[in-house]
Amino acid sequence: MKIGFIGLGNMGAPMAANLVAAGHEVTGYDVAGVTVDGVAQAASGPEAAKGAEVVITMLPNGQILRNVADELVPAMEAGATLVDCSTVDVDSARAVAAQAEKAGLGFVDAPVSGGVGGATAGTLTFMCGGSADAFAKAEPLFDIMGQKAVHCGEAGAGQAAKICNNMILGVTMIATCEAFALADKLGLDRQKMFDVVSTSSGYSWTMNAYCPAPGVGPQSPADNDYKPGFAAELMLKDLGLSQQAAEAVDADTPMGQAALALYRQFVEDEGGTGRDFSAMLPRFEKRGRG
Ligand code: NAD
Repeated sequence: MKIGFIGLGNMGAPMAANLVAAGHEVTGYDVAGVTVDGVAQAASGPEAAKGAEVVITMLPNGQILRNVADELVPAMEAGATLVDCSTVDVDSARAVAAQAEKAGLGFVDAPVSGGVGGATAGTLTFMCGGSADAFAKAEPLFDIMGQKAVHCGEAGAGQAAKICNNMILGVTMIATCEAFALADKLGLDRQKMFDVVSTSSGYSWTMNAYCPAPGVGPQSPADNDYKPGFAAELMLKDLGLSQQAAEAVDADTPMGQAALALYRQFVEDEGGTGRDFSAMLPRFEKRGRG
C-alpha cells in the first residue's frame, strides 16, 4: 500500500519503519527534517500525501493536527483515509473528521498506548474512532504497528478512550506513590509492601507492572533513575486533555483534577520535566504533610 506519514518523531519514526519493514511504500514528512531508513522523504505534508491510500499523522497536539489537516485534506486522493495516531483533544479529532468527510475522505482517530518501546516493537494498542469502513481500511496497518486495535465508536471515540485510560493511569500512579511514601514513614519494607499490594485489592498496573519503587517488582523506569518511559510532561498533557473534555461535557472528575494539579506542579515547579511519570515517588518521599 502507498502510505503518507506525517510526524516522524519518537513515536512516528519507528511506526513508519515497521510499515516499511512489512513491505509498504511509505513517504514521510517531518517539519524538523527527520529522516527514517526506507521512508522516502517528501518536501511537505501535501507531497507525502500525494497518491497515498492512507495518510498517517503522529503529531504533538490538536492545534498542529488542525493546521496540518488544512493542508493535507485538499491534497489527498478522493477515497483515501486519514488516520491520526496523535493524542489530541476530542474536539480537534471530530473537527478534522468532519473536514475529511466533507472532502470525501475516510478518517480514523487512533491514539496509541505502549510508548516508544511499543512503537519500536510493533506492539502498540490503538484506540479508534470513525466509520466502520475507515477502520477496516486502516486495520491491517494497525496489525503491523501494534498488537491490538479496538474500534471504540464514531470519530472522537478513540481519543475519549485514550484520555479516560490515562486519567486512570495518572490517578493510580499518584495513589501508588503516596502509599509507598506513607509505608516508608510507617517503617514498612518496600518489598513487603509490593508483595502484599500486588496480590491484594490495591493492585494496579502501576504497582504490578510499572512499580515506581526502584528494585521492587518487574524492571521499570524506576530501576533506570526514572528515565522515561512515559515522561511526566506527557502525562501532564493527557491529564489536561481529560480535564478539558470533562469541562466540555460537565463531568465531575475530582481525582483527575487533583492528578492534573500535582503533575503540573511536578513538571513546572519541581524539575519533573524529562523524568518518568513514576518519579512522583521520590517527589512524595521528600515531603511531609505541609
Ligand atoms: P515528538 O515530539 O517526538 O514527535 C512529533 C513530531 O512531529 C516531531 O518530530 C515534530 O518535528 C513533528 N511535527 C511537528 N509539527 C509538524 C508539522 N506541522 N508537520 C510535520 N511534522 C511536524 O512526539 P512523540 O513522542 O512522537 O508523540 C507523538 C504523539 O504521540 C503525541 O500526540 C503524544 O502525546 C502521543 N504519544 C506519545 C507517547 C510517547 O511515549 N512518546 C505515547 C503515547 C502517545
